[in-house]
Amino acid sequence: MTYEINETHDPNLKSWVESANDPNTDFPIQNLPWCAIRHSNLGTGMRIGESVLDISALSETGLLDLPQAELEHYHRFLTYDSQLNLAFEIAPIGMFSQLRAEASRLLRTDQSSDIKEKVGRCLVPPAANDFKIPFEIGDYTDFYCSIYHATNVGSMFRPDNPLLPNYKYVPIGYHGRASSIVISGTDIKRPKGQNRSDAEAPPIFIPCKSLDYEMEVGFFVGQGNELGTSIPIGEAEKHIFGLCLVNDWSARDIQAWEYQPLGPFLAKNFATTISPFVVTMEALAPFRTPAFEREVDDPAPLPYLADEQNEKFGGIDINLEVFIQTEKMRNEHIEPHLLSRSNMKDLYWTIAQMLTHHASGGCNLQTGDLIATGTISGKEKSERGSMLELSWRGTEPVELPSGETRRFLEDHDEIIMKGYCEREGFRRIGFGECRGRILPAD
Ligand code: CA
Repeated sequence: MTYEINETHDPNLKSWVESANDPNTDFPIQNLPWCAIRHSNLGTGMRIGESVLDISALSETGLLDLPQAELEHYHRFLTYDSQLNLAFEIAPIGMFSQLRAEASRLLRTDQSSDIKEKVGRCLVPPAANDFKIPFEIGDYTDFYCSIYHATNVGSMFRPDNPLLPNYKYVPIGYHGRASSIVISGTDIKRPKGQNRSDAEAPPIFIPCKSLDYEMEVGFFVGQGNELGTSIPIGEAEKHIFGLCLVNDWSARDIQAWEYQPLGPFLAKNFATTISPFVVTMEALAPFRTPAFEREVDDPAPLPYLADEQNEKFGGIDINLEVFIQTEKMRNEHIEPHLLSRSNMKDLYWTIAQMLTHHASGGCNLQTGDLIATGTISGKEKSERGSMLELSWRGTEPVELPSGETRRFLEDHDEIIMKGYCEREGFRRIGFGECRGRILPAD
């Protein structure tokens, strides 16, 4: 099961890759997230400290302690596939876990100098912009699973009745757009769209005036399901490969005018940024928490969304931080300013429930599909995961250390998201960064 602790989680493990032993690194030997890089021959790899372990090169060293037949089976994926999708088509479940265990073994300090030298030749020092989207993402779905976010947004529009009656029964979501998902570091052009902020006049087509970010976590589907079948809640996590950070950029003024009756459309589809590293469910095992504790008079999840294991371990304790750096701050060498801190364990629905619900009507999920949680906000004001909530729809501007204020994002603002897991008795692991800078509209 994905909650199990094994020797790869041992907090005492150290690597001969020195940068992986930095207490502040997101990528110690206990993490080993997957990524895809742009380099000519190099496809997929595992991040370790400041380096990437080229799995294709590693498979040719003869050092992987895997049966020859399996290695040959994996060979095509290991050598040629530049993204991770093919692996799930050809490899049995557990291959990623085996490769992670092997990488963990080969990267430990107690290896011989001969092995260190051979494996060392498989390490690539990547530049920040070398990473690409780790999967070919066929479909992208975005949920709305933070009850605090839903309550905040709802109360701006319906102060007396912020949560709609379906919220505690249905994990609410919508189908997003996969083609505009971009990797961290990609500039985001301010969208244009229909604005009807003057209720007395017809709408006008102008650059978005209320550009926002949303702090979310996404998960990648490993193995999917056949069309017409569903995924039992007890099996859900076997279909989830790993997690990344997601910034679901949002145009609030466009959204306010267009969203009824069918939900968000152009307000959400101009760009979505993801972090480059897929932190595996296995690496996250030490950081599992119980599912959200519902209020006593809340309804229990319907039976197809209820599972004892999910209730005990379905949550994940991931600290999430959002920073902003404006152009003025950059020019004056002012560090990025922390806007909010929230935690994924505060979601009302677990990722297993999101996945099971998604497939419950027979919708086929496919390898590489990205499913995001929705904005993750907490109970406190400092835990609000979007500018819409922080500035309360622009009515309470956010003050920045440069003396500037923000109601929404201005051109050249950069948003930087970070995520990490900490628990006593385990090594801290992290997600790297999810960043994007706003360019002016055309
Ligand atoms: Ca969203």
